[in-house]
Amino acid sequence: MIHLPLKDKTAPPNRLSVVGALRQIKKAVSKVDGEVYNHSYYPHNLVTDLLRAYSIHKRVLEDGDQPKCNYCESQGEKLVTLQVEHYRPKAKVEAIDNAGIEHPGYYWLGLEWTNLLLSCPKCNGKSAKGNRFPIRGVRANPLQPVATVDRVLSLDRSACYADDNPLLAEGAILLNPEIDHPENFLIFDNQASLSGYGEDPERGELSKDIYNLNRGPLRVDRIKIWIKFKKQIVETIAGHQLDRINEDALHFIFRKISQDVIDRKSPAEEFTLFGRYLNDNIGLFISEIDVYYQDRFLRAYQEVLAEQPAP
Ligand SMILES: [Zn+2]
Repeated sequence: MIHLPLKDKTAPPNRLSVVGALRQIKKAVSKVDGEVYNHSYYPHNLVTDLLRAYSIHKRVLEDGDQPKCNYCESQGEKLVTLQVEHYRPKAKVEAIDNAGIEHPGYYWLGLEWTNLLLSCPKCNGKSAKGNRFPIRGVRANPLQPVATVDRVLSLDRSACYADDNPLLAEGAILLNPEIDHPENFLIFDNQASLSGYGEDPERGELSKDIYNLNRGPLRVDRIKIWIKFKKQIVETIAGHQLDRINEDALHFIFRKISQDVIDRKSPAEEFTLFGRYLNDNIGLFISEIDVYYQDRFLRAYQEVLAEQPAP
């Protein structure tokens, strides 16, 4: 998970504000039921294409772009379909209050733009996030943001923004990539396994557990990034030791690999958070290879790093 630019909350896609959509919000509020939202609104192409573009830090989706899950950063499109996910569950929250009553969910936020993210089924499914949404404070009152004037429901959108009160005051525990900076809460080890970190490690730890960010296949896919680079480095060293690669070529190839390593920091790449960790700790990873070549590689890496255009 990496930080995503906050969506323009004052300009949601039209599809979320058309008459039919407002009618659905009204229905959801009157029935206290987030299940009433049908698929012609929030999973509409106008909404999903924008979310897919945002997932790789773009404003418009272009041919060849590979959107990714906002939570685990898998580029799902080839294998799984990325889904529109409600950060605050719309139809139920797995929590029971002191009176033993189950929370009906944030049914008034079913079509709220800032409540929508893009997720793969593995992060969003029942074995992961599902309807879980733990908070530290008090659940926001659903009646506040909704006002009925002349029997026409108008949703006070300013009271529905994920990054503003009253929702912000709930003290949500799950990291929201548009509000939080995940790198301040999560850290990898050299096996690409995540754990809670920083001033509030509990938020990172619980987010990792609830989004299931250390599931086996995901960890394997992340560590494979380094394994691939390491293989290229080791093969290059072997070529140099056998005199098949001269000094200049060694430096040239190390520079090429370094550029590929640095490119993994880009938000358009799969598993950017791990790519950034790999770059920030390149000395640690490179310590797995022959000492003599470590220095040679790091020199090439620093050289290429210094040549990168300013972000
Ligand atoms: Zn995911």
